[in-house]
Amino acid sequence: MDNKTLFQFFEWYLPEDGQHWKRLETEAGKLARLGITGVWTPPAYKGQAGKSDVGYGVYDLYDLGEFDQKGTVPTKYGTRDEYLRAVRACHDAGLEVYADIVLNHRMGADEAETVRADAVNSANRNQDISPNEEIQAWTKFTFPGRHGKYSDFVWNWSCFDGVDWDDRRKRHQIFEFEGKTWENGVDTENGNYDYLMGADLDMKNPAVLEELDRWGRWYLETVGMDGFRLDAVKHIDVSFFPRWLGRLRSESGRQLPAVGEYWHTDVNVLRAYLEKCGRVMRLFDVPLHFKFRVLSGANGTFDLRELFRNTLTGCEPEASVTFVDNHDTQPGQALESWVAGWCKPMAYACILLRQEGLPCVFYGDLYGIPHDGIAPVEGMERLLLARKKYAYGPQHDYLDSSEVIGWTREGDREHPGSGMAVVLTDRGEARKRMYVGTVFAGELFLDYLGNRKEAVTIGADGYGEFPVNGGSVSVWVPAGK
Ligand code: CA
Repeated sequence: MDNKTLFQFFEWYLPEDGQHWKRLETEAGKLARLGITGVWTPPAYKGQAGKSDVGYGVYDLYDLGEFDQKGTVPTKYGTRDEYLRAVRACHDAGLEVYADIVLNHRMGADEAETVRADAVNSANRNQDISPNEEIQAWTKFTFPGRHGKYSDFVWNWSCFDGVDWDDRRKRHQIFEFEGKTWENGVDTENGNYDYLMGADLDMKNPAVLEELDRWGRWYLETVGMDGFRLDAVKHIDVSFFPRWLGRLRSESGRQLPAVGEYWHTDVNVLRAYLEKCGRVMRLFDVPLHFKFRVLSGANGTFDLRELFRNTLTGCEPEASVTFVDNHDTQPGQALESWVAGWCKPMAYACILLRQEGLPCVFYGDLYGIPHDGIAPVEGMERLLLARKKYAYGPQHDYLDSSEVIGWTREGDREHPGSGMAVVLTDRGEARKRMYVGTVFAGELFLDYLGNRKEAVTIGADGYGEFPVNGGSVSVWVPAGK
């Protein structure tokens, strides 16, 4: 089996030109040739900001760029037809498609309603800070531009637990509706982190659950995606996705793999969530992202032996989706924690060339981010090709020095010519003696990234001494006989 590799096909500041689905259609073949096996597409439904909405300000889950709503028919990424065509192009290229599922909240309601609510302390949402009062909440979604096509469900305040805006007094404050309680199975930051933004869905309301089931079925049938990226799972009751995914999987008879975004740096929190949700999804390895972030800013003082310690990849590799950066961590975004450019090739070597974790490559790292003058990561295509061609077989770890670490892959028979040795350092030029396999005795290895120009000869004992430049990574692969 070839190495699975995901690709996040968007960054935050893509042009608002409605051309992105066409870009995906055009690029699908290239991505497949680079070794990508699955594409995570941005939220495809109409957001409150219309053509400017990245997709997380969900207004209408049934509007995939088909109805004149929020001032536009197409979404930021294009029309429904273009979306479906892009998915077909991915499938034709042999790529799986992972759809982004944003169910925590809704935004841009069509009408406001008068609701009784308590204001709560935003730092401790279990604490009421005002007497129960009437507010004007934007909670009624009638979707006038869609005229009930696909679903005639009308959302009103009873479908939500709370909002953060009282239109009567023009106040920003988190309000919990009368008779509602925040869900229990959520992150405990801020006392209870059920509320994130917009109108927060009440996942205890049977009508809401039924409508989300109906939508899931419709979406799967309409698009035929292969899996899901689940947004903001720490703000949604932990019981929700086992139920929602379980139904879709059993009804469709498909595996529908899922990866959840649980934004937390403590691996134990991630592991507890995996346990509670019955492992119906993998999780992004947020702790590993922050290791790269710290390494990239540590000016050579990072202890490389610690790189995978207390990461999901280190603890539960089968449950881990690794990434270096994403649309939230890029400069200017909510969770900004960008990994510096010099460090990116070694970070990508760590997620692409080891056997642990399912890597997800960020659009901005392959294509650059013109909005911020950020260039593509140096050697990004070569790193992907190195995974595709060489990163197979038993792995030998040399994560034994604070200054320079490495690992080797022995290669396997299904991938002739495979096998590699990776060495990286955040300090000065170094070298590392590592075992790559006696099968390579007498063979020459070359740096696939071209950072080092010499050849390394593998000894009769299967060992080679692999050099690396200062603050760099080298990926040594068999030169071929
Ligand atoms: Ca919530």
